[in-house]
Amino acid sequence: MAVHVPVTDYPMFIDGVSVPSSSGRWIEVRSPATREVVGRVPDGTGADVDRAVAAARAAFRDGRWHRMALADRVAVMNRLGDLLDRDADDLARLETLQTGTAYKLRRDSDFAFASDNLRFFATQIRNLEGKAAYEYTGAHTSFVRREPIGVIGQVSPWNYPLWMAIWKIGPALAAGNSVVLKPASATPLTTVRLAELAKEAGVPDGVFNVVTGRGEVVGAALAAHMEVDMISLTGDTETGKQIQALAAGNLKRVHLELGGKAPFIVCADADIEAAARGATAGALINGGQDCTAATRAYVHHDVYDAFLTRTGELFDAVRVGDPFDPATDLGTLISDTQVARVAGFVERAVAAGARVVAGGFAPEVAGLPDGAFYRPTIVADCTQDSEIVQDEVFGPVLAVLPFDTLDEALEKANDTRYGLAASIWTTNVFTALEATRTMNFGHVQVNDHLMVASEMPHGGFKQSGSGKDMSSYSFEEYTQVKHVMLELTGTPEKGWHYTIFGDKPADQPTPEH
Ligand code: NAD
Repeated sequence: MAVHVPVTDYPMFIDGVSVPSSSGRWIEVRSPATREVVGRVPDGTGADVDRAVAAARAAFRDGRWHRMALADRVAVMNRLGDLLDRDADDLARLETLQTGTAYKLRRDSDFAFASDNLRFFATQIRNLEGKAAYEYTGAHTSFVRREPIGVIGQVSPWNYPLWMAIWKIGPALAAGNSVVLKPASATPLTTVRLAELAKEAGVPDGVFNVVTGRGEVVGAALAAHMEVDMISLTGDTETGKQIQALAAGNLKRVHLELGGKAPFIVCADADIEAAARGATAGALINGGQDCTAATRAYVHHDVYDAFLTRTGELFDAVRVGDPFDPATDLGTLISDTQVARVAGFVERAVAAGARVVAGGFAPEVAGLPDGAFYRPTIVADCTQDSEIVQDEVFGPVLAVLPFDTLDEALEKANDTRYGLAASIWTTNVFTALEATRTMNFGHVQVNDHLMVASEMPHGGFKQSGSGKDMSSYSFEEYTQVKHVMLELTGTPEKGWHYTIFGDKPADQPTPEH
C-alpha cells in the first residue's frame, strides 16, 4: 500500500509566479512513514520575504483585491473552496505523504471542513458589523468604516498544514488584505498548491504569496518586517513569544494561536462509554498532535477503574500503520525526533511512579513498522505537578489522574499556563454549568471534545495565545475600524473653540467639575 512518489519541486509563490529562492538552495521534505523524500521547496531568505512583502504592498496599494466588486471577491473565495473540493483527493494524498498521518483523517475530516471555513469567511464580507451611523455629538454625523489592515504576515504549523493555512488566509483575504504566508518547513507542499489554486480561483497576483523556508529565517523576517502591518502565528507558545518580541519594531498587530494542554474531566455521574470513546478520539486525533487534544483526564475515584479499563481497551484496538491503508487509524508522528520526545515523557512519568495502562512501548517492542510510529498510550496515576501533566507532549498520550470533589478537579484543570480547550463529562446540568463558568479556557465543551464550528471562535486564554480563529471574531481581527465624522452646521466659529483660543462667550455655561 506504500505510495512511492517521484520527487517534485514545489517553488514558492510570489506575485502570482512560481519562483525559486534567492539562496538557490532547496529543503527536502520527507515522509515520516517511509523516510523517502516526497518533495523539495526553496530555502527562503530575508530577500525573498522582502520581495513577497513588496508584491503584497503593491497589490494592496492599488486596491486590486479590496476594491474589487464585492460580489466578485465573494465569488473568488467560493471558487477557491470549490477547487479545494475538486482536488481534495490529491491534496489529502500530498498531506498524508508529508505528515505521515492517516489519509482518512485528511480526506474526510480537516479537508472537508477547510472548504467550509473558506465559504463561511466569504459570507462575512457581506455582513460588516459596527456602530450605527448617528449624530453622537449633536453636530456631526458619525459612522464607522471597517477596512482591511494592509499586508499580513502569517506563519503556520506542521500539524494540520493546509487546514491551518485556510484558517489564516480565510479571514485575512475575505477582509481584503494582502498576505505573505510561511508554512512549516516540514510540511510546505500543500500550502504551495493552495497558492496555485488561489490564482486559478481568481485571486489577483501579489495578494496571496507563499514564502517557504525556515522559521528562524523566513518567519522571523516576516515578524520583524517594517512593511508588514500584522503578524499571525499558529505554533508553539515559545515561538509566539519570539514573534511578539520581533513584532515590536513597528508595533504591528499580533495574532497568536499557540499551544494547549486540554483537561478532560470525567464526573462520577458521566456516561463512561461516551467518556471513554470521547477520550480515545480526543487524545488520539492526528496522533495527539493537536492543540486541543485531550491530554489530562481527571477522573472521579468512583469511576476511575471503569474508565481506565474501557479507555485502555479502545486505545489497544486502534490500528497503527501505513497511513494510506484504509484500515489504518493512526499513522506516524511528524518525525523520529517527535517520537523520541513523546517516549521520553512517558518514560520519565513511569520512572516517577506513574503506571502505563495501554501502549507506551518502544516502537521495536510494540511491533510497529519502521517509521516515526508511536503506540497510543495511557499513563495513569500521574501527579499534578509532573511534566506530563503540565507540558505539551504533542503525541498520542493521555495522562490520567483521580479526583474526589468537583472543586478539586476544576482547580487542577485550571492549574496550567495554557488555556485553549477543555471538556467535562457529566449528566448533571448544574455541574456542567458550574464547569463552563469556572474553566479558564477559550473553548469548553460538555460531553464532547474536539468539535469546532466555522461560525464559532477558536482561540486561547493565557499562554495559549491571543485572538481568535474562525467566526466573525476572527474576521474582525483582520480589519481595522475607522471613525468618519461629517460636520453638519457649517458654522466656522464653534462654541468650544475658546478652550483653545479666545475668551469664553457669554452664553457658554461653566462646565461642572
Ligand atoms: P512551531 O512553533 O515550531 O512552528 C510554527 C511555525 O513557526 C512554523 O512555520 C515554524 O517554521 C515557525 N517558526 C519557528 N520558529 C520561528 C521563529 N523564531 N520566528 C518565526 N517563525 C518561527 O510549532 P509547530 O511545532 O509547527 O506546531 C505545533 C504547535 O502549534 C503546538 O504547540 C500546537 O499546540 C500549536 N498549534 C496551535 C493551534 C491553535 O489553534 N492554538 C493550532 C495548531 C497548532
